[in-house]
This record gives sequence, C-alpha cells and structure tokens, in this order.
Amino acid sequence: MTKDPDIARAAEMISSARYLTAFTGAGVSVESGVPPFRGDKGIWNNYDPGILDLSRYRSYPEESWPVVYEIFYRNFSQAHPNKAHLFLSFLEESGRLKSVITQNIDNLHQEAGNREVIEYHGNSQWLACLYCGERFWSGDLNLSVQVPRCPNEGGLLKPDFIFFGETIPVDASMRANVEAERTDLMILIGTTGEVMPAAMVPRRAKNSGASIIEINIAETNYTEQLTDLFLKGKAGEICGMIHREMRR
Ligand code: NAD
Repeated sequence: MTKDPDIARAAEMISSARYLTAFTGAGVSVESGVPPFRGDKGIWNNYDPGILDLSRYRSYPEESWPVVYEIFYRNFSQAHPNKAHLFLSFLEESGRLKSVITQNIDNLHQEAGNREVIEYHGNSQWLACLYCGERFWSGDLNLSVQVPRCPNEGGLLKPDFIFFGETIPVDASMRANVEAERTDLMILIGTTGEVMPAAMVPRRAKNSGASIIEINIAETNYTEQLTDLFLKGKAGEICGMIHREMRR
C-alpha cells in the first residue's frame, strides 16, 4: 500500500507541474461500479466480446443490441463519478490540469465536471446513425427497444464508441498526441497499457520528457519502463489522499 511520503511527493509534483495531463483507463471507473473488460471481474467473463464486432452489429443488430443495451446503458446509467474523477475535475477547475485523455466510454469524467476530455475510444452516451451520420444523446432516445433506429429516416443507430474493426477517431488521436508532447507531468490512472494504439500516448509523453505518476491496484506494462512514481491502490482512495494533501 502507498505510504504517506509518496502521497506528499505526488502532491508536490502535481502542484509544481507546468502542463499537467491525465491518461485514464477502465480502472478509474471501477469504484463507480463499472467493471473493466478483462480480468477476474471483467465484462468479457460474462458476455461475448463478439457483440462489439462492427460487421456483426450491422448484419444482426437484433442479436447484439439487447446485450449492448444491458451493458452500456442499463448498467452504466447506475454509475456516478468517484473520488478519482472528482479529483481530476478539481485539478482542472483550479487551473492545474490541461486535459484528460481517456480510453473510457462511460462519460464519467464529463459528469464529474471536466471539460477538456479527449475521448480516445468515443463515448457510449452518444449514438450515431450508420445511414445519415447524425449523432443523438442517449437520454433523448428510447433505447429499450429491439433495435435502435434513427429518428430521421430509420437508419440503424450505433453507440458512438469504437467497436472491434473500427479506427480511432482522427481528431482524438491527434489531440492526444499533441497533449503528450506538451505535458511535463502525466498521471496514469487504472490502465494496463495493453490496448493499442492508446497505450502509446504515455510513451510519447515520456519520450518528450514528461514525468509519469501511475495509480493502479497492480503493476502494469508501464511501471518499470515509464513510471517515476507508482502509487499502489484503488484510484478513488489514492486520489482522495492526494487531494487531501493538496488542501492541507
Ligand atoms: P484496461 O487497460 O483499461 O485495464 C484496467 C486497469 O485498471 C488494470 O490495470 C487494473 O489493474 C486497473 N484497476 C482495476 N481496478 C482498479 C481500481 N479500483 N483502481 C485503480 N486501478 C484499477 O483494460 P480493460 O478493462 O481490458 O479495457 C480495455 C479497453 O476498454 C480500455 O480502453 C478501457 O478504457 C475500455 N473500457 C472502458 C470502460 C469504461 O468506460 N468505464 C470499461 C471497460 C473497458
């Protein structure tokens, strides 16, 4: 477990950063009740990842949609930001944090109040029509249907996050790269560093001279190679401790 001097050091590094950024993965939302995809309690232990295969979704939406709805709308809608999300919101609000680059699709950083959120894999709370391209906010649609259809001309609606077989949104990837080159301190929270090409963002930051603080319940691909300060523990608990230290 992380010791007090490490928390004090993290607070000091964050306070003196010139261009602070954060890079988050599924682990930041676990304490909000959103499970990761992989690992012991991962979503793919209970569901077939094939539901997020784009060509299958296009061809057989009536098979994929009920499962997609259950995971990403019925379950995600119960989730609220935890102390880690709120800490990042505090850091942006107080002018320290320039952006959050997230691999998550749960919208919890925005719910916590962050405005500069780069969504590397999209956002489940938006849906896009595969026919006309228009995007709709999930709260404005009735999604407990057999297959969601576009209010315009009835095209198939797809959650606006990356399915298997899709490429990363160009805008998000370009913005993430620019942030990685600008930052002098990046905080990694709850990410394995195994999902490509997102995993390259912290590497780009390190190669551009940034220091790295990593918060995770377990060591990752990054820990030995990139990390300057590893804080072992749950994202919300560790962020809560740093937050308290910074307010002392
Ligand atoms: P991942 O790379 O996002 O790994 C999850 C990491 O979180 C692991 O390193 C794990 O040790 C760590 N972790 C778990 N609980 C934690 C906690 N309480 N505090 C801190 N760290 C914790 O891997 P994945 O789950 O396979 O995800 C694959 C991709 O899918 C990623 O891009 C991920 O962001 C995305 N995803 C997003 C969500 C979401 O939007 N909430 C949920 C599942 C997956």
